[in-house]
Amino acid sequence: MRGTVQAVLFDVDDTLIDYAGAEHDGIVSYLRSLGVEGDLNAAAARFGELQAFHFNRFLAGRTDYVGQARSLAADMMAWMKAPSIPDPYRWFLGYRERYEASLRLFPDVLDGLASLGDVPLGIVTNSDTAFSRVKLQRVGLLSRFRCVVGVDAAGASKPHPRIFHTGCAALGYPPAVTAYVGDNKLGDAAAADEAGLLGVWVNRSGAGEDGVTDLRHLAAVLKLAEVSHFS
Ligand SMILES: [Mg+2]
Repeated sequence: MRGTVQAVLFDVDDTLIDYAGAEHDGIVSYLRSLGVEGDLNAAAARFGELQAFHFNRFLAGRTDYVGQARSLAADMMAWMKAPSIPDPYRWFLGYRERYEASLRLFPDVLDGLASLGDVPLGIVTNSDTAFSRVKLQRVGLLSRFRCVVGVDAAGASKPHPRIFHTGCAALGYPPAVTAYVGDNKLGDAAAADEAGLLGVWVNRSGAGEDGVTDLRHLAAVLKLAEVSHFS
């Protein structure tokens, strides 16, 4: 049975960091720097599709991080009808530099985390642990979290329960007293519920009436969860 929430784990991309915005701005800025002409918004949309496809192959264990990045770059250059180059990974690294420079927090994040007081916080992400630490450092948030658990550290990706349980163990709290906060309704919130945590969906689009649309409401939502548990 679920107890009072004592610790909170967070997703990173599109929950704390505006990943979609950074990806769009990063690729547009990179293509512009390379002298690419034409509809850069269309190119960014295609890049987003390719990125999701190749990153999902990485999550499924079908390639490693460098392999998915190399394939992503090669596919994108083919789509743009750019001449092929010996090492597409270098092209990807150029993009990643621009992407990292575009990283930013959503405006509700700092106040939302502050409202949680000294509740222990951690990260569970389907991205790579070391890369996630770099991202969190860049936006000035790394020291706020006691642990960062990436897909490589857990040996499983969300929605698998193991990655949530690895996060709970790293934070030092059992799933029954730990909340998990993420922007993916099924892959984050429902999957965390399934793993025995309290899943909280961050509804970043604000569409519909479900979910938390502002992290500044998170403390109240977690309190409500306590109230409903004990009522
Ligand atoms: Mg996310």
